[in-house]
Amino acid sequence: MEHVRIWHEVDIAEIKEHIVMVDDKYAHCPNCKKIGLEIKGLKKCPSCEREFKYATSKEAAGGKTDIVARTLKKIPGIIFIDYDDYQHATGKQKAASLFKV
Ligand SMILES: [Zn+2]
Repeated sequence: MEHVRIWHEVDIAEIKEHIVMVDDKYAHCPNCKKIGLEIKGLKKCPSCEREFKYATSKEAAGGKTDIVARTLKKIPGIIFIDYDDYQHATGKQKAASLFKV
């Protein structure tokens, strides 16, 4: 199976609600900050019950794809978000919220 990057218009707030951070061995829930989650078959956080539809990883920074392939194999059906794109989009959202009254 090949993996390609797809550009798609997204609601970054929705992604933030349903994302899990993964690394080489374990996952971490950004919602409740639970660390050391087993990645294989991970569909929701065992601690706060957050449903995981998206994953990203610092190890994918700079367009590295090893972690992408590993994650997609361990969690079939999850959507892998490019780490740099995610940081960029959430950074923009943070900046925008600073100017909201
Ligand atoms: Zn959680």
